[in-house]
Amino acid sequence: MVYNWLKKLQNNLFPPRCLLCNADSKTEFDLCLGCCDDLPFQLHTCPRCALPLQMNQLCGTCQKKPPAYTHCIAPFNYAPPLDYMIQQVKYSKKLAYARLLGELMSHQFNQPKITKPDIIIPVPLHPKRIRERGFNQSLELVRPIAKSLNIPIDYHSCQRIRHTPKQADLTATQRHENLKNAFQISKEIDASHVALFDDVMTTGTTVELLAKELITSGVERVDVWVCARAG
Ligand SMILES: [Zn+2]
Ligand SMILES: [Zn+2]
Repeated sequence: MVYNWLKKLQNNLFPPRCLLCNADSKTEFDLCLGCCDDLPFQLHTCPRCALPLQMNQLCGTCQKKPPAYTHCIAPFNYAPPLDYMIQQVKYSKKLAYARLLGELMSHQFNQPKITKPDIIIPVPLHPKRIRERGFNQSLELVRPIAKSLNIPIDYHSCQRIRHTPKQADLTATQRHENLKNAFQISKEIDASHVALFDDVMTTGTTVELLAKELITSGVERVDVWVCARAG
């Protein structure tokens, strides 16, 4: 109650501005309606891996070899201006973009057809990368979702124990080699249904490996939630 009142007061004193065009946002978000319309929301996807398609149907890869996780949900395509927004978080430490994207995603994930997991695990970064960047972007992006959907975040059970070169220029096979034994489940996971959260999914190698580790450690169902799907 007090929070709502404070929020109202704050909005009157400092009306939210659009992070993309700097106009008065006229919405509850730091984004105006015009810029919101320009966001690359996913329309049709593969129900397993969220690959963008012309219609909702299993993609060829999932038909041949279904992933270890049950469903991947990705509200956005990794396309302009969303790629810019994520890069602003990762490489320019502009965490206001993480909060905005997290709030937008909260609406997308809060739908009756989406089964809520018991916990959310953000894909861990190696401590060396955390020191370089100062934070884990997946954790920052998922905070507003966890809060709004009232799902706990488990940030400690799963660790990245091997510092690996950046994945961007590697093929799927190289990515797999690169990530072998990169993760460790160090504590028993106290949940039967887990959602892994990552900022961007490209080939899906990272979340596939992590999903397998979680299932081996006794988790019954793993879903993957990502901000943006490339492909
Ligand atoms: Zn705008
Ligand atoms: Zn698929």
